[in-house]
Amino acid sequence: MTQDARLPLAAMLIDGRLEQAQSGETFVSTNPANGEPIARIPFGDDRDARLAVDAAAAAFPAWSKLSAAARAKHLHRLADALERRRNEIALVVTSEEGKPLHEAQGELQLSIDSLRWYAEEARRAYGAWIPDPVPGRRLLTQRQPVGVCGAIIPWNVPCAMIFRKAAPALAAGCTMVLKPAEATSYVALKVAEVFAEAEIPAGVINVVTGKASAIGNVFLTDHRVRKISFTGSTDVGRLLLRGAADQIKRTSMELGGNAPVILFEDCDLDASIRAVASLKFLNAGQACIGANRIYVQSSIYEEVSRRLADHARQMKVGDGSQAGVVMGPLVDMKAVEKVEELVADAVGKGAVLRAGGSRMQGEAYERGCFYAPTVMTGVPRTARLHDEEIFGPVAALYTFETEDEVVDLANNVDYGLSAYIFTENMDRAIRVGEQLESGMVGINETRLGAAEAPFGGVKMSGIGREGGREGLDEYLETKLLAIRVKD
Ligand code: NAP
Repeated sequence: MTQDARLPLAAMLIDGRLEQAQSGETFVSTNPANGEPIARIPFGDDRDARLAVDAAAAAFPAWSKLSAAARAKHLHRLADALERRRNEIALVVTSEEGKPLHEAQGELQLSIDSLRWYAEEARRAYGAWIPDPVPGRRLLTQRQPVGVCGAIIPWNVPCAMIFRKAAPALAAGCTMVLKPAEATSYVALKVAEVFAEAEIPAGVINVVTGKASAIGNVFLTDHRVRKISFTGSTDVGRLLLRGAADQIKRTSMELGGNAPVILFEDCDLDASIRAVASLKFLNAGQACIGANRIYVQSSIYEEVSRRLADHARQMKVGDGSQAGVVMGPLVDMKAVEKVEELVADAVGKGAVLRAGGSRMQGEAYERGCFYAPTVMTGVPRTARLHDEEIFGPVAALYTFETEDEVVDLANNVDYGLSAYIFTENMDRAIRVGEQLESGMVGINETRLGAAEAPFGGVKMSGIGREGGREGLDEYLETKLLAIRVKD
């Protein structure tokens, strides 16, 4: 028996059944902390995606006709089932994606919160009687589910992202086919087991792993798929938007970020440095809302640089399942090489390394995808990482003099997902916050996500919102009923 054959064999969820790929093929998922294989994953393609869309389309009429209250019961049961397996699934998130266990637990909590919040919110998907200027007629609006949705998610938030999409979609009465990222397919298939255990009716939610372009193409070309909800890179988002144009499908796009973090000289230095460090090194820098460009007012630049570098050097890096580890590996070696390239480019153009700047050294790191927490100062604005998403544990510090100057700098990129301001002057915080071109602004705060709050970007960071009331709207159409009445 080969080593691969002894690994757990995961299964996709199609029409309520746990299935292997039509091709019979599988691939092996690995742990980025040590290169160990974790599980065999079905390598699905367009045939599996088509079967899943068949199932979602067949399930739609009955699911959409259920009352919102009845659907809410299903979602609460699903949340209960997920609660029961939260520790086990958090461990799979850590071993497949690499983030420390406490961050993985946070993902599980957000997943459960999303299910419970949308279970209730869908009961408030009200329509309206509209005051009608025409006698003998009444105007009524009704909110109806969009239909079958295709969802594509990235690897960096492999569990919560499922529920950021599935919870509002299912609550609204839509059915869904979900395709996870290749790197974190095992997490999605563990969650698929939970869907099955919770007895969500067959076909309402389906999970297909495998060949991204083939599965995505089914979403784009099958008329029954009425909406595509995508989270991932701007490049793939653009490709899907182009494809979705042919059939005028609805789309939600949660794309890349390039967040500015602005530290004014009047900030609470201790709290701000702590917050910036935790934002920067969250998920080893692989977060769409992560700190990409750190602008520090010149009078505090040296102190912030020194303290951030001290922080970076003291961080415990390692396998995220081990106690005390605050930063895990990057998702794969390609990600490590991309960070190396960006750092080399910046250093070549004059940036100074204050901490890190290389792969982690030592036996514990040899087989994993580890890059040291890094701090760079004097980064020229011509460096690639000023305009590109770093997606690694590299803090790049720039200096500025005035408020107007930093607003221009912050806005002078193509992205607009999140931005952060640190100041004790609330007038300034509000003034600057209002001018920043981004979907979300943290003011002395870096935690932006909650089931209750709308999350999303402007410019090339995307279209639409996930979370909050706005997240439900993404899965609802407004229908107008014009009714003749004998007054
Ligand atoms: P990615 O390369 O765009 O992949 C995202 C998903 O798209 C994966 O499931 C991938 O499948 C799939 N995909 C790739 N090519 C496709 C195609 N031709 N047709 C259909 N699907 C395709 O992004 P990533 O590297 O996984 O994730 C990192 C990016 O996500 C970053 O830019 C980050 O900022 C962004 N992100 C944004 C948000 C937000 O809320 N705005 C949140 C998290 C992450 P395979 O893995 O199988 O290739």
